[in-house]
Order: sequence, then structure tokens, then C-alpha cells
Amino acid sequence: MTTTSTREISKVLVANRGEIAVRIMQGLKEMGIATVAVYSEVDREALHVLCADEAVPIGPAPAAESYLVADKIIQAALETGAQAIHPGYGFLSENGDFSRAVEAAGLVFIGPTADSMAVMGDKLSARRKMRASGVPVVPGTDEPVTDPDTAAKIAAEIGYPVLLKASAGGGGKGMRIVQEPEAMATALRETMGEAGAAFGNDAIFIEKYITDPKHIEVQVLGDGAGRAIHLFERECSVQRRHQKVIEESPSPSLTPELRAEICAAAVKTAEAISYRGAGTVEFILAPDGSFYFLEMNTRLQVEHPITEMVVGVDLVRAMVEIARGGGICYRQEELGQHGWALEFRLYAEDPGRNFAPSIGRIETLAVPGGPGVRLDTGVYEGFDVPIHYDPMLAKLIVWAETRELALARARRVLKESALHGITHNLPFHLWAISQPSFADGSYTTHFVADHFDPAGWLPGLDPRTGEILAAAAVLSEERLRGTDPHRLPATECHANWHLNALRAMTRNT
Ligand code: ADP
Ligand code: ADP
Ligand code: MG
Repeated sequence: MTTTSTREISKVLVANRGEIAVRIMQGLKEMGIATVAVYSEVDREALHVLCADEAVPIGPAPAAESYLVADKIIQAALETGAQAIHPGYGFLSENGDFSRAVEAAGLVFIGPTADSMAVMGDKLSARRKMRASGVPVVPGTDEPVTDPDTAAKIAAEIGYPVLLKASAGGGGKGMRIVQEPEAMATALRETMGEAGAAFGNDAIFIEKYITDPKHIEVQVLGDGAGRAIHLFERECSVQRRHQKVIEESPSPSLTPELRAEICAAAVKTAEAISYRGAGTVEFILAPDGSFYFLEMNTRLQVEHPITEMVVGVDLVRAMVEIARGGGICYRQEELGQHGWALEFRLYAEDPGRNFAPSIGRIETLAVPGGPGVRLDTGVYEGFDVPIHYDPMLAKLIVWAETRELALARARRVLKESALHGITHNLPFHLWAISQPSFADGSYTTHFVADHFDPAGWLPGLDPRTGEILAAAAVLSEERLRGTDPHRLPATECHANWHLNALRAMTRNT
């Protein structure tokens, strides 16, 4: 373990909100580092503000006027005497201008260099760099395409279906599948229009659309001087709208040989750009076992906890050590995968209405503890979830020795968890893990589209409602008749039907 530090970091400003800001502060506190939060007007009582040693207001609710304003954030760091800024994910985390401005102000940016972000932030330049470095990329173009005839010609060579992709895209946005030549002209025009509006850059390229693939990604750490290590893979194939909902590590689909190959390709990727800090190299795995580079996310990833659980590391600490100049605090040879972890993203959204975001007040949030259970949350009971930001409320992570045990644990924890006051996707997770293709690990990125039927989903109603009511009725009966050892008066039985239901259900699991 390397410990030589060259930059003093004893106070860090976290330029983010929600669960990731809380998670980063937890890591910092354990390292003895003081924490500074920034917050918008609607986040005055947000969890990340309550967790921080100090908190600085940075403006109105819209992110463009608060969490995305580099100057205000840097100013807050300087005023509070923080030496470094951790950007989290989303917001300014992959913005090269921000990291440059942070360093120009004499502060440490806990993340990669602006140059790495520039190469990887643009999918076209990342493709070119990877091709030159010998990392396999999805068959397609390395230059933007604007003319529909040229696009049709390229698509004919690659073979349909193809995917039109915005070079500046992210968060699952800016992609369109084209199935046949006739659809090309319209699709190209629309994708360019959307990309221009959403990312301020309408460059589009064409990739072969891989059918029934798996999304496999590799966690890496780079020292910024050309050396990198990997921390194995995560599988993130359960997606809706090209966004992840459930992730697991290890991937149930990799042989040891394929794992070694993909991890080596990820290390090569990071070393090719002398990557500094924590990053994720995403690959798409085709059914025939071939894999291709998709993109590199130059930041801490949402799903980083499953790697922490399986590899037994603290990625926030690793990032801070690298930023201090202490190098990578883990050696490749000492790292291995131990057990199995699953992460469930708890979104304020309605699966029955095509996963549309919802808002409201968190009335109840109760997740049982027990061995191998981790909740990374950005909310608490009584908190009003603002509409202005990402609808992800929290992440539920479970770990156990084997995949089978991890699934059993996930089932118990999901069943025993309660989240009230807002429409959310806990029931979706229970549904997902009970599907045969999830249980046997064969699921692909088409899992939700192929198996989930929003029309059959009762909007806003827990799909177990019938089961709960039936269980409650049985137990109330037992209590009234005196066959239940905890006999209660009739009135109390009826008043406490939901507690009865909970008891009845948990004794069956
Ligand atoms: P990704 O979806 O990029 O593989 P994550 O799931 O870790 O990675 O996403 C991190 C967060 O950043 C999500 O909230 C995602 O919506 C957001 N995000 C990532 N890139 C962009 C972008 N270019 N524009 C808007 N949001 C983005
Ligand atoms: P983002 O920056 O939005 O995360 P990615 O390039 O990482 O964009 O792709 C997001 C998801 O879209 C992938 O996880 C995968 O499900 C799907 N996808 C991307 N490229 C392809 C492709 N060439 N073929 C099939 N699916 C793809
Ligand atoms: Mg991605």
C-alpha cells in the first residue's frame, strides 16, 4: 500500500447532492477529512447538507443556476478553506472546463485531468483513440455523419440494424435504432436535432446495433502517470431507456478467460490516456462472446458499491489518495472477487407509466439491516423529493457468498423494505429478480422490453397488495379465533391489519 502524499487534503467540498454526495462524505469522514456541502434553495434540508460539517448555498433550484455553476462552487471552496473538490457523478463531474478552473484556482480536482475528459467525453474521439490503442470498438464510423445518403451507404456496409449515436450523448440519451434504409433520413435528422438541443453538439455517428447483448463494464484506477489497475467487472444489462436499474458483480456471463480479456482491455484503455483516478470502461458483449468498447465514464459510477463489496475496497478513499499524489493504494495482485453483490436503484418513478418520474414526500423509508445489506440513500422520512434533479432516491445493495444466496437475500430485503409517500420501483425489482432469465443470469439489455408489460402493472399499487390483504385476513381470523398465540381484541386486530399482514408475510419468507 502506497502512502506517500504530496498534496494536503484535510477539507473537501463535495460538488453534488443526493446519495452520492452523502456516500462521498462518509468516505471523507472516515479518512479524518472535513466536509463542505453546496446546496440549492430546494435542498436546504437535503440529507447531504445535514451530513456535512459546513454547507454553502449556491442558488436557485434549477441545476443550471446552482449545481452547474462552476464559479459559485469554486468560490465556496475557497471561502471555506477546502483544498479539494470531489465532483461525484453527473453535474460537472465530466466537465473539463470545470476541472481546469478548479486547478487554476489552486484547488485539487479529485478526478481525472481535463485532457482525459476531453478524449473520453466525446464518443467519436474515444473511438478513434481506442482503435489506435488496439482496443476493439463496435463496427461503425469514426467521423460524424450528416448526409442521409452517406449514412445509408455506411449502414448497408455495416448491416442493419444500426444505431445512430450522439457523440456528446450520455445518460442513455441521444440514440436511435434504424432497422431499414427507408428510415435513415428521418432518423438522422431527428437524432441530430435532439443531440443539438440536449448536448449543444449535433455530431452523430453510426454503430452496428448489437442484438441481445450484455452490458459489461470494468472499474479501473489510474495513477495519472501511465499505470492502471482493474477492479473487475459489473454487469448492468437490466436497463430501461438505455439506463441501468439493476447491476451485479461478478457478471454471471463471463468465463475466467473472457473476464481476463475484458479486464485487460480496460487497463489498456486507461493506460492509453494515462488515466488518473477512478473510472469505468464500458463494453458491450455480443452473444457470440465478442466484446467492444462502448465508452469510458471518467468519474465515480453510480454502481460503484457492488465493486466495493465484492473486491473489498473503498473507491472514494482510493480517489482521494490518488489526488493527494499517493498513487494507487491497492496492488493488482492483492485484488480478487469475493462473493456476489447486487445493486437495485430505487427510483421515484412509476413502472406502470413507462417509468415516468414522480414526486412527493417520503413518508416511510424502512430498509431492514442484517448481514450483507447496504443502503446508500440521499433521502429520509419527511423529505420532499424535488422535481429538479435525477429521480434516483437511493440504492439498495446486497452481498452474499454466492449468486444464489445474494438473490435470496435480495428477495428478503426487497420484501421487507417499505417506501411510502411517493411512487417508486421497489415492486419492479421484486418482479425482475423473479423472472427466470434474471434468475439464471442469461438476461440481456432487452430484458425489460421483452418481459415487462406496463399495461399489466397496476399503477401506483404494490403488486403484492392482494397477497398482503389475503395474509392480513388470515392472520386477523387466527387472532380472533384465538389460534394465534398473540391474541388481540377484535378492534385492535382490524386497526392493525397492516401489521398483521407484515407478520403474516414475513413468517412465510
Ligand atoms: P452511465 O449511464 O453514463 O453509464 P451512470 O448510470 O453512472 O452512468 O450515470 C450517472 C449519472 O449521470 C446519471 O444520473 C446519468 O443520467 C447522468 N449522466 C451521465 N452523462 C450525462 C449527460 N451527458 N447528460 C446528462 N446526464 C448524464
Ligand atoms: P451512455 O453514454 O448514454 O451511457 P452508452 O454508449 O454507454 O451511452 O450506451 C448505453 C446503453 O445503450 C448500453 O448499455 C446498451 O444497452 C445500449 N447500446 C449502446 N450501444 C449499443 C450498440 N452498439 N448495440 C446495442 N446496444 C447498444
Ligand atoms: Mg454508458
